[in-house]
Formats: sequence, structure tokens, C-alpha cells
Amino acid sequence: MLALTIPPTGPPVAFGDMSQMAHGYAHDVLDQVKARNAHETEFLQAAEEVLESLSPVFDQHPEFQKHAILERIVEPERVIQFRVPWLDDQNRPQVNRGFRVQFNSAIGPYKGGIRFHPTVNLSILKFLGFEQIFKNALTGQMIGGGKGGSDFDPKGKSDFEVMRFCQSFVTELFRHVGPDTDVPAGDIGVGGREIGYMFGQYKRLANEFTGVLTGKPLGFGGSLGRTEATGYGTVFFAAEMLQVKNDSLEGKTCLVSGSGNVAQYAVEKLLQLGAKPVTVSDSSGWVHAKDGITNEMLEEIKDIKNNRRGRIHELADKYSGKVEYHETDRNADHNPLWQVDAQCAFPCATQNEINGKDAENLLSAGVTVVSEGANMPSNTEAVNRFVDAKIMFGPGKAANAAGVGCSALEMAQNSSRIAWSFDRVEDMLKDMMATIHKNAYEASERYSTAGNYVDGANIAGFVKVANAMVAQGVV
Ligand code: GLU
Repeated sequence: MLALTIPPTGPPVAFGDMSQMAHGYAHDVLDQVKARNAHETEFLQAAEEVLESLSPVFDQHPEFQKHAILERIVEPERVIQFRVPWLDDQNRPQVNRGFRVQFNSAIGPYKGGIRFHPTVNLSILKFLGFEQIFKNALTGQMIGGGKGGSDFDPKGKSDFEVMRFCQSFVTELFRHVGPDTDVPAGDIGVGGREIGYMFGQYKRLANEFTGVLTGKPLGFGGSLGRTEATGYGTVFFAAEMLQVKNDSLEGKTCLVSGSGNVAQYAVEKLLQLGAKPVTVSDSSGWVHAKDGITNEMLEEIKDIKNNRRGRIHELADKYSGKVEYHETDRNADHNPLWQVDAQCAFPCATQNEINGKDAENLLSAGVTVVSEGANMPSNTEAVNRFVDAKIMFGPGKAANAAGVGCSALEMAQNSSRIAWSFDRVEDMLKDMMATIHKNAYEASERYSTAGNYVDGANIAGFVKVANAMVAQGVV
């Protein structure tokens, strides 16, 4: 079962002397986190958002304060940083930085993706690893939180360069991971190709064929539905939010950003459900198909991005007259993609792609549903605008959880050496997203304002991990 239970409210339990009043506890810990990690901007942003949601929990659960759950949960259990030397195609030595943040293993092996992108640093990986703890708890699966990556940029590298880099990366990583210890997967810049190379090197070094990585290609242990999971799940979550208001996605105009795996399958599911996706983007620009992105255009997007490793303007080149291309102005204070008239938005590109001004523009354009396919795509100001406007806002840790949820299903299939059908996996993911929505909604009703999914998701995920940490003692 995917059920995740929030323990019933009991009378306040008296525990010895409590130095801080429960309601000040989260703020006091947040102050400590800020002092200790002053330069980790993205991690502080993620920690602040979670801790601000949690204050109401401590009145009902004084045991969490007594057991110093917050002080412990904001510190990764282990951080590994290492040198990744590799030879480029001219046989010149190159050096990148590799990381793995093993954040929390209270409810299962560390689980979370690996990101290869020039912006990767410890702050970004700590924000992602921290979010992953609560996201993974929300899935109802037994997976802890972790994240890893490198500042290596796969863009413009040959397949052999990517292979040599992945082999060097895993030569160090392999001693820290394992199918019951830490199970990495993909993220930005890491797809089937990179997972394949990393799996090959792990198998060689460990002398074992196990499900140590998820998101594997189908021929050697990958799960059907994993590629589609995150994008589909983000759309399922939007459908769940709409259903509370007896509404659906049918006929709704939808903005999608990004054009990688998450965006592609968000567009695909939107088309299947009768919605009208009109935009996608990459780091150079965005495209607008006024009459809607068709299935044929979607196949072209997949070919451009997955096979040709090209740029999104190629879609407008092929469908001129139907698809407009707009180059990204890096100095602009807003992204015009979010000004297009629509009812729903699916940010599926990267963190902080929606700022306060973009949020204003989305609200003015008529958007009442935002479901985050990326991790933390809305900055703090944008989240506050959405919450204040009381629109249906699905934060990434709930709305994009089907990706890692499907990874947990891949682990289950690998352990039992069987493979489930696509339909079976998709049905399980649909149920998983419905359960996540229900638990987040119920937590919002109980501790915050009904329909505040930011608070609801943070609280539902946190309570599950906190209960496990209390039960396991101070470790
Ligand atoms: N990188 C994805 C995420 O942000 C997936 C992680 C996984 O499958 O382990 O959740």
C-alpha cells in the first residue's frame, strides 16, 4: 500500500524542561541554519520554506523538539566531495568536482538523482537533497533522501568524453553507494546514456549486477514508465488539485517550460487528457505554438532533444507559421513565456525560473493552476504570491514525486528480478500521486489552510521522517 499516515492528534505530552516554546522552535533552528550555512543561498531558500511550514506541528508533537529532530534533519548525515579527473578527446587531462550528499536515511536507503551541470555546487546539492527527504517520504515508499552531481557540462561533449567522465565519477562514488545503501538516478544532464555508463563501471568495480542506479535503460533492469514518470505525475497532480474543485484539465491552455524529459512527458500527458500545451523552452529560448503543440510536434521535440541533442529553435524552423521562437534575454527581469494567456503552468526547467514578477504575470494571464515539474522552480517571492492568491499551487516535492516514486518501483522490480508492464506501473504512479495529493491536502486542512499544498506537503513528508527518527533514537 502507498498509504502514508499522519498520526492522530493527541493531548500535548509533557517532556521535562523545554528551553524554547514550541512555536519558536522552527525559527530558532532556522536562525542556526542561516548562521552555519551563510553562503549556501539555495539550501537556505529550501530550508526556510520547509521550516516556516512546520511551526504548527510542534505544538501537537513536542517530542520532535525533545528529540532535536529539526537540528538533526538540517544536517546531512554525510557529504562526500571528490576530484573527477578524465581525459578529453585530445587526451588532455580535465578535472571536475564530484559530490554526493547523503542527507537522511531514516526511512530507507539514500535516494535521489545525480545532476551534471556547470552550476552544480554544494549549496545546490544540499537544497536538492533536503527537498528529496520530504518528497521521498511523500511517495509512501521506503526511500531516504540524497543527491549528487558534478559541475561537468555534458553539452558539446562527445559520447566517449561523457563515458570517460562517468567512469571516473563512479570510480570514486562506487565505494559510497549500493542497492541497500544509496541508490542514485538521473537529474538535469543525466539520462539513460549517463546512467548506462555509470552502471557499467559500477558493475565492473563491485563485481555485482544489482539495482544500484535507477533510470536504467530497459534492456538491463530499467522500469517501463520511468522516463515518463515525472512529467506524467506532475500532470496527474494538477488533475487531482482541479478535481477538488470539480474541474479538469480538458480544454485548458497550459504553459510548459523546459524541453527535457520532464517537460516532454508533461506535454504528452496533457495532450492525452485533452489539454492544450502551447509552450516549451530551453536555455537559449522558448517556442509558442498558438494553436497548441501537436503530437507530431512533440515527436519532433523528442527527436531534437533526445537524439540530435539540438536546440528548441529547430522546432520553429520546421513548423514556421505555426510555432514562434523567442530568444531568451538573460538581462530581462522576467520571462515572457509566463505572460502568455493560459489557465495552467507547468514549470519543468530548473530552480528559480519563476520570480515574483513572473508570478504576477502568470496571475494576470489567468493562471489558476501551477504544478511544479522541476525542483523549486518558483522562488520564495513567487511561492508567496501563489499562496496569497490562493491558486492551486503544487510544490515540486509533491507534484514531481512520481519520478523518484517510479525509481522506488524500479528498485522493487530489480530486487525481485521481475519486470512489470507499462500499464501496471502507470496505474501505480497515478495512485501514488492521488495519495500524495490526499495526504498533503489533509495535512493542510489539519495544520494550515485547506488547499495550501506548500504547508501540506512539507508537513506530511516531515511527520513521517520525524516519527522514524524519534523511534530510532539520537543517531
Ligand atoms: N532527480 C529526480 C528527482 O528530483 C529523480 C530522483 C530518483 O529517481 O532517484 O526527484
